[in-house]
Amino acid sequence: RSIAVVLGTRPELVKLTELIRLLGSAAHVVHTGQHYDEELSGRFLADLAIPEPTYLSGIGGRPRAVQISAALGQLDALFTAEPPRAVVVQGDTNAALSGALAANARGIPLVHVEAGLRSHDRNMPEEHNRVLIDRLADVLCAATPANRDNLLAEGVPAGRIEVTGNTVVEAVRGQLPSHAQQFAELARIGVSSDGYVLATVHRPENTDDPAVLRAVLTELGSLAGELPVVLPLHPRTRARIAAAGLDALLEPLLVTEPLGYRTFLAVARHAALLVSDSGGVQEEVTVLGRPLVVVRNSTERPEAMPDFAELVRPEAELGQAARRRLAEGPAGRARLAALPSPFGDGLASRRVVALLTELGARRGGGVCV
Ligand code: UDP
Repeated sequence: RSIAVVLGTRPELVKLTELIRLLGSAAHVVHTGQHYDEELSGRFLADLAIPEPTYLSGIGGRPRAVQISAALGQLDALFTAEPPRAVVVQGDTNAALSGALAANARGIPLVHVEAGLRSHDRNMPEEHNRVLIDRLADVLCAATPANRDNLLAEGVPAGRIEVTGNTVVEAVRGQLPSHAQQFAELARIGVSSDGYVLATVHRPENTDDPAVLRAVLTELGSLAGELPVVLPLHPRTRARIAAAGLDALLEPLLVTEPLGYRTFLAVARHAALLVSDSGGVQEEVTVLGRPLVVVRNSTERPEAMPDFAELVRPEAELGQAARRRLAEGPAGRARLAALPSPFGDGLASRRVVALLTELGARRGGGVCV
């Protein structure tokens, strides 16, 4: 019997790539379709060489409760027809919560990769998803000791928790293109190494209030007066900018479509600075050794602070923090490049596979991977 890997978004594809590769023919990838744009999903799967998944339907772009319930019903039907030996979910998405609920409903062992993250910010739907998934999981793969401590503080039995490291480390190392390809990507976009800022913005707290969105774009535009600012535009951000009539604020920026993962890593690797509200980017900069200004109210990844990243409120401090980090120059970047990533050693996926094997042995299920 297979191991069902349930995912639905770009960051899950990134962080589960190596695990899926290691599981080989044992993996049954189920994609809920939470991200359905070609740039965030189809092209990503091909880029990362993930085997063709089973797709669920009627989920992308729907309200959160509909996404979760529609995926749950379809997963239950799949798991009834072909019960997997275990279900693996990653992170804090609606897709991951659906996978967790479906496993729980059928009594299938649930493994949560990247367990124990907490922002303690109840305004984030992801925070609720994380807590719920961690409650249901049989094996909790905490990325860092701090993540384990969050779980212990909530009363999760220590025996269920393993500190594995974060699978993003091997994703970055495995997918970063060759030196020559990195420079080819920079040339294609029209920037030179260390001579630009890379920004990504997609979180509701930055996009859904037009005043905040305007402030973020204005700050990026002001930075662009000093050095190029590359902005791969997430589809939801593009839609919000259009709806708020803010298209003119994009003019000073080097706007691109969302980049494929390998291209994104190449561009991130050579950025003088990153500005982002992404979760994954907070981890990736620690492997790439680049400074980051995090435009968010809260973070569930304090490990990246203060060396690699600092947190600024969306509508304030952005320009100031960015200029301070830029002023650290090559010496500052060299300091970061010499620091180890707080997110692990690049062996997290292997540890998760070992846990899956143990789980099978314990249950007599013979999970052979
Ligand atoms: N990413 C990418 N292309 C882009 C922007 C981001 O490949 O144009 C990657 C990024 O490196 C990270 C992931 O997408 O691995 C993050 O996705 P997102 O910011 O959508 O989600 P979050 O990490 O905030 O949950």
